[in-house]
Amino acid sequence: MVKLLIVDDDLPTCDFLRLFFEKRQYEVFTAQDGEDALAIVKEKQPDIILLDIKMGGISGIEVLRRIKDICSNAKVIMMTGVKEEVVIDLAKEYGAIDYITKPFSLEHLEKDVMPKVVKQLL
Ligand SMILES: [Mg+2]
Repeated sequence: MVKLLIVDDDLPTCDFLRLFFEKRQYEVFTAQDGEDALAIVKEKQPDIILLDIKMGGISGIEVLRRIKDICSNAKVIMMTGVKEEVVIDLAKEYGAIDYITKPFSLEHLEKDVMPKVVKQLL
């Protein structure tokens, strides 16, 4: 089973994505802030992480940087409300493999983004 961590400070987004991916046989973990996310990364070593950029506390970009220190193999996809090139470039520099802009379509996530990422796990 592919282990997926969803990190977003918006609980409905976490719940919605959890449901969607559990139905598709992913083992799903969720976190609503960076501290929790990093604890889960250490404990569960997720394969794929969907990571919100704008969160209270530690920012998504800083969380990404720390994730890469703990678990450099994790495939991280950033989620952003605003498409800010500077932030996206920084995320790529820190090793994020892709990003999606909110509100994103689940179809895009399922059909375009995830297959590419899952392929990299093999
Ligand atoms: Mg947010």
